[in-house]
Amino acid sequence: MISVVNLACELIRRPSITPSDGGIQEYLASLFGAQGFSVEHLDYGDVRNLWVTHGSGVPLVVFDGHCDVVPPGALESWDTQPFDPTLRDGMIFGRGSADMKGPLAALCVALLQFVLENPNHAGTVGLLVTSDEEGMAVDGTGRALQTLVDRGVKIDYALVGEPTSDARFGDMIKVGRRGSVSAKMTVFGKQGHVAYPHLADNPVHRLAPFLTELLAIRWDSGNDDFPPSTLQVSNIHAGTGAVNVVPGSLTLDFNLRYNTEITAELIEERITMMAHAYKLDCQFVWNASAQPFITHNPKLIDAIAGAVKAETKRTPSQATGGGTSDARFFAAHKIPVVEFGPINATIHAANECVGVAELEGCVRIYRLVLESLLP
Ligand SMILES: [Zn+2]
Repeated sequence: MISVVNLACELIRRPSITPSDGGIQEYLASLFGAQGFSVEHLDYGDVRNLWVTHGSGVPLVVFDGHCDVVPPGALESWDTQPFDPTLRDGMIFGRGSADMKGPLAALCVALLQFVLENPNHAGTVGLLVTSDEEGMAVDGTGRALQTLVDRGVKIDYALVGEPTSDARFGDMIKVGRRGSVSAKMTVFGKQGHVAYPHLADNPVHRLAPFLTELLAIRWDSGNDDFPPSTLQVSNIHAGTGAVNVVPGSLTLDFNLRYNTEITAELIEERITMMAHAYKLDCQFVWNASAQPFITHNPKLIDAIAGAVKAETKRTPSQATGGGTSDARFFAAHKIPVVEFGPINATIHAANECVGVAELEGCVRIYRLVLESLLP
């Protein structure tokens, strides 16, 4: 049986910047195939997805992870090569070590160990791996899940191995995520000479009072599961670069991370009506990329929180913060889904790393989860 450290290093040394999988899924397919798992590739376009199962009947417990990573950035910022896994001071360094090749390796080892020791286990265990989590996430987990659901596959519980631990290993699981909606707003004016403003129409000046009101909106007060929804402006651009030209148009990008007290439709409607009230000549391009969700399934939450407590002696908080994740695709099919994994302090950064002890702890936690959901 391969160790979680060796498997994590095998995955890290296969460069897999989205949507490439770097050969990882072929490698995992042979690893699982050799142990009697059913293995199927669900590839769409450039994106590779791997679906692995063992056993039959209910319940079906699915582990989910991604093998793609974000680019390493400037190599000078790294102390070691990002795709050459390096063990130092009890940590594995390398791109994807924490997000999430390390925890993916732990999910795999937990499944392999569980089936080796319980060949006639109850129900079915599954693993879904995608190469499109860090990118558009169109042909990845969402599409593969849709294929499975269309086939009549009914998933009872899902565990995503994203790195959810915050300050200490085991201090946080994620039981939901906020929604995300972005807008690209274009405000049209009339270009002209700054000395002849009566002949021009400045879109910056038109935007200013609208933007002030937009930023002052209190969308909601949050609820027991979520903090209040927030809006952030990410880009604003107008002007030719010359100091004596009134710009002809302006673009403004903003994003909202919103909770279950509101919907993307309501957000879009309110902002559109506000722009109308300010008589802005403008257009919006909206992108509602993720719906908020919350998992209230006590059996799954207790199984995961209990396993984390047994391993780490910590009672994890049940959080909903951070960015979006592939958990949302399970939630969209009403599949109870919870996320747990190692500390996320270095994800997407140079010198990304994960603790060896954390990965070994993840294996025991993931195994405990299987044992409690498939007694
Ligand atoms: Zn991730």
